[in-house]
Amino acid sequence: MFIELTDHLRCPVEHEEAFLVLLPELVDGRSVQSGILGCPVCDRRFRIQHGVFDTGDAPAPPPAATRLVPEALAPLAGLNGPGGYLVLVGGPAAGWREIAELIPGVGLVAVNPPAGVADEPGVSVLRASRLPIKTHSMRGVVLGPPFGSDGEWVREGVRVLLPGLRMVGEGTNPPDDALDLMASADGVWVGTPRR
Ligand SMILES: [Zn+2]
Repeated sequence: MFIELTDHLRCPVEHEEAFLVLLPELVDGRSVQSGILGCPVCDRRFRIQHGVFDTGDAPAPPPAATRLVPEALAPLAGLNGPGGYLVLVGGPAAGWREIAELIPGVGLVAVNPPAGVADEPGVSVLRASRLPIKTHSMRGVVLGPPFGSDGEWVREGVRVLLPGLRMVGEGTNPPDDALDLMASADGVWVGTPRR
């Protein structure tokens, strides 16, 4: 996990949003291999193991098959220029290497990726039942199936997006009280959070 990403993590427990304090154990360059993330509000501690932050309640790994292949999702995400983070939930995370080439200089966060995606330089891996990421901290969110059809995941994506930026999903159209749809075709949609 990129050590800088730990500044953008939050406690996944339902209480007022709280940052997590990193107690690193093994750090390789800018990558945390193992350590503890502690919440100052509820006092829970979460482990980073093999570079992965796993809250212990993640759904089973999703299918890798997705329409949101790198060449399709990179232009839809609409990120211009380097910096910040793009969150890839589910199957789209399998394409992170190609995405890194198409959108250079943007940190990639793989949430509940398909089997085979491990922590390594270029991608940070989180496993959780919601996004353990701070509000208004990410430049883009991509939801593969089944997350793109799940209103709770759409609302989580809206929460973590920086104002005015885009979410891309595969599935049924998202709730219109959450997103203003920019486009929707062939089971893929793009929108910006409704404010
Ligand atoms: Zn907490």
